[in-house]
Amino acid sequence: EINKNDDEKGKADGENSDDAPEQFSPAEASLLQKIIRKGLVESKTDLEIQRKDPNSPLYSVKSFDALHLKPNLLKGVYEMGFNAPSKIQETALPTLLADPPQNLIAQSQSGTGKTAAFVLAMLSRVNPELRYPQVLCLSPTYELAIQTGEVAAHMAKFCPEIELRYAVRGEEVAKNTKLTEHIIIGTPGKVLDWGLKYKVFDLSKIIVFVLDEADVMIATQGHQDQCIRIHKTLSKECQMMFFSATYNEDVMNFAEVIVPRPLIIRLKREEESLNNIKQYYVKCSSQQEKYSAVTNIYGTVGVGQAIIFCHTRRTANWLAEKMTKDGHAVAVLTGELSVEQRINVLDRFRNGTEKVLITTNVLSRGIDVEQVTIVVNFDLPVDVEGRADCETYLHRIGRTGRFGKHGIAINLVDSPASMLICQAIEKHFNRKINYLNAEDSDEIE
Ligand code: ADP
Repeated sequence: EINKNDDEKGKADGENSDDAPEQFSPAEASLLQKIIRKGLVESKTDLEIQRKDPNSPLYSVKSFDALHLKPNLLKGVYEMGFNAPSKIQETALPTLLADPPQNLIAQSQSGTGKTAAFVLAMLSRVNPELRYPQVLCLSPTYELAIQTGEVAAHMAKFCPEIELRYAVRGEEVAKNTKLTEHIIIGTPGKVLDWGLKYKVFDLSKIIVFVLDEADVMIATQGHQDQCIRIHKTLSKECQMMFFSATYNEDVMNFAEVIVPRPLIIRLKREEESLNNIKQYYVKCSSQQEKYSAVTNIYGTVGVGQAIIFCHTRRTANWLAEKMTKDGHAVAVLTGELSVEQRINVLDRFRNGTEKVLITTNVLSRGIDVEQVTIVVNFDLPVDVEGRADCETYLHRIGRTGRFGKHGIAINLVDSPASMLICQAIEKHFNRKINYLNAEDSDEIE
């Protein structure tokens, strides 16, 4: 079975026991980020252009109108509420839509508009009159493929003639049929099956090839080879689009194989910082005292929302149960939840249905829920060796320029060892973590 690697989902769940620190696969983390971050992440950093074909001038657009899209496609873009291209789209779109087609490698953090950019390019390159697949988009997992397909369906709302087919688990084709849809979005194994084994579509007729979430793809055993096998069957004229949220040697080596003569653009992530964050620690001598500290803090949260980080699933569930019993409305997000459950929990928290979210390390990055004012480290973040994990601390607590609002971080310290970790964090960032008397949380400003 070629596609045995397609379904990464649940892998981490199965391997995690309740007392182990939660581990999430890159694909799961990526999906969660997409879900929690519904709007565009605006970036103040400048776009970096790394390589360009000296024969083709580089354009940038400030409006969607300037792209000369098909009217119904443009209508779909506006219908999605997009007024102007995001920073990455300003440069990516003219390249993706250029005639003759140009290849692109683009790297920027999640939420900066990559998916919308390549979906627009995919839709605009399709010739609906030709009844065969012309565009192929590879995603690392079932869920990520569906997310992309939903964006395409939304954007193509006024282009009903464009048809899309998912090549993912659960989708089947009869052997001797030929696909008539214009766009295929799928996972590598299934696409290999359909394209090479069953030959229900002709890979050499693909004119646009999109590799989404390349970094996640690499992190998934077997996917990279499958992508390369698919890539080998494509025609020389096929336009290659390569996207990644992170940028490192492995990703770039992969990109080199897939994308000849590319324009490479990068938008560096805005650094998170602890500026504007008031940090405190609370001394507790037992789990029960930690619980009291949390409920005291909860009482003072007021209009804002809070996220509480626990080290293990067991602690998270214990805390949630106890708070619920005491009449608090809390949401819990841990790795044992199904994808649908996670989406549900995050939606409710975003809407403010629950004011407190208890979670493990699932969300250490990307909690840009604007209304979150307090972050509680029920357990301080540590690495596998039990040392202070300053990077995770920064991801949990830190903010970027966008939400330069004030925030409060509270660290529950319950042993001499955790006091040392707290001090290590303080030293690392050279920012004072102040003592807070939990009995008197009025001190919190
Ligand atoms: P990425 O693929 O980099 O994670 P997305 O394309 O998914 O980013 O975009 C992130 C969010 O921003 C999505 O909710 C998307 O609908 C929205 N978005 C994308 N482009 C624009 C735009 N030009 N204007 C407003 N919102 C946008």
